[in-house]
Amino acid sequence: MVANLEIKSVARFMRSYDPADQDTDFIPSKSDCKRTYDKLNEVIWGGRLPPAKFSVRQLRGCWGSFVGDRKKNKHVINMCKRYPNAQLFVGTLAHEMIHYWQWLHSETDREVNHGKTFWQWKKKFAQHNLPLQERGGENMNWYASRNFDLLSIYQKTI
Ligand SMILES: [Zn+2]
Repeated sequence: MVANLEIKSVARFMRSYDPADQDTDFIPSKSDCKRTYDKLNEVIWGGRLPPAKFSVRQLRGCWGSFVGDRKKNKHVINMCKRYPNAQLFVGTLAHEMIHYWQWLHSETDREVNHGKTFWQWKKKFAQHNLPLQERGGENMNWYASRNFDLLSIYQKTI
């Protein structure tokens, strides 16, 4: 019951970007990043992730990336200027948020990867109909080729 409500609320939240047509370019602002981050933090991490820093910029060959500098105690989640749809934006941000969580909960940057602590979120993501793929954030071609699947996953829950 509760899980269903949460799924619906995530779906409605994403649809709110463009109620008429989800399959349209999505150009995120920093406040979109923050808003989406807060929503994902709430449903996946129970609000336990501290605030994150974002940069919306031109990225080469990826939809998003996480960069952490332990010595300076600084991090940034890099997001693209344009996505083919809002779902891809949300899916990418969720992926990079796992890396942020890994970075916060490990002592070396080597632990920010697609290993065990990445996949431990798989079930939780599935509960909220969020896709989780190893190469989801970093490999543009892979994700773009599966956009349609992504779209149908979300449409089912609305
Ligand atoms: Zn990754």
